[in-house]
Amino acid sequence: MKHHFASDNTAGIVPEAWDALAAANRGFAAAYGEDEWTARASDCIRELFETDCDVYFVFTGTAANSLALAGICRPQHKVICHRLSHIATAECGGPAFFTGGAGLELLDGADGKIRPADIERVSQQPYDFHRQLHKAVSITQSTEAGTVYTVDEIKAIGEVAKDNQLHFHMDGARFANAVAALGASPGEVTWQAGVDVLSFGATKLALPVGETIVFFDKSLSDDFGHRCKQAGHVASKMRFLCAPWVGLLENGAWLNHARHANECAALLAAGLERFAGAELLAPVESNAVFVSLPAAVHRSMREKGWNYHLVTGDTGARLMCSWDTTEEHINQFLTDLESALSD
Ligand SMILES: *Cc1c(COP(=O)(O)O)cnc(C)c1O
Repeated sequence: MKHHFASDNTAGIVPEAWDALAAANRGFAAAYGEDEWTARASDCIRELFETDCDVYFVFTGTAANSLALAGICRPQHKVICHRLSHIATAECGGPAFFTGGAGLELLDGADGKIRPADIERVSQQPYDFHRQLHKAVSITQSTEAGTVYTVDEIKAIGEVAKDNQLHFHMDGARFANAVAALGASPGEVTWQAGVDVLSFGATKLALPVGETIVFFDKSLSDDFGHRCKQAGHVASKMRFLCAPWVGLLENGAWLNHARHANECAALLAAGLERFAGAELLAPVESNAVFVSLPAAVHRSMREKGWNYHLVTGDTGARLMCSWDTTEEHINQFLTDLESALSD
């Protein structure tokens, strides 16, 4: 099977991260994050965001989101998020489990985005003792629809959050792709726009394993290290989670790889648009392409060996590009698609 477009986590590890991992493998190092790689990786993240934030390394994006939300919500609280958000649809109830019972308030919104007016509307519902209290808002950047919130859109959500005493969480499983698309600085996209805590992922971008939780509001992370440890998310050989981050961040490799993946998605989308039978389902702004094709065409593509996910019925597909996608992969896919469409 060809898994090139099935997800961005079907790709391998970028060379910069691989080299750093090999370098970290020399000799002995202190355990549980007391080592120099963890210190360097944390400093890289503080430099990247140009602020003195608190950084925690965990194994998965689900843990990053669930623990970040556990840092800002208690069981009697509720998180406002998009109906299609990963926290609502793909984490097996992780946020409820790690918060001890906090709920999700699901909002609709075009192109995977929630709107400030809707956040305002639900957080200003008349007080009702019987309901969980809205305590946080969570957005995904880039979104589950492959779109990207602009800095102004994030700022507007940040303002509504502040006005309504909501903490502001960002699921940045594909944060680098969003930053590459916006051409803004990581700080502008997050804390300067009001984000309190970020799940900063790079597994899909480049790494073998390991995501970070970045607290910009350090008053929220007092005893957070204990929460991570309790959840089983403090690696004893932490240097191996952290060294790849150093390789990725120190020389700007993260942004180059994200740009490449985004450019591949644009190229793929342009190729798809040439076919009358293909219809793009969302604007292509990051490394995802959502396209509708006849069900028979998907079956034929599968017979030709292409594995990718159908996300809406049996026609809407999601195609992801990664750092390792090449023009040749795209051309092979389009050539097979042309033949599938004419079958
Ligand atoms: C992949 C993904 C995550 C993290 O998933 P894990 O499989 O737990 O690493 C979180 N949010 C979004 C939007 C994702 O796409």
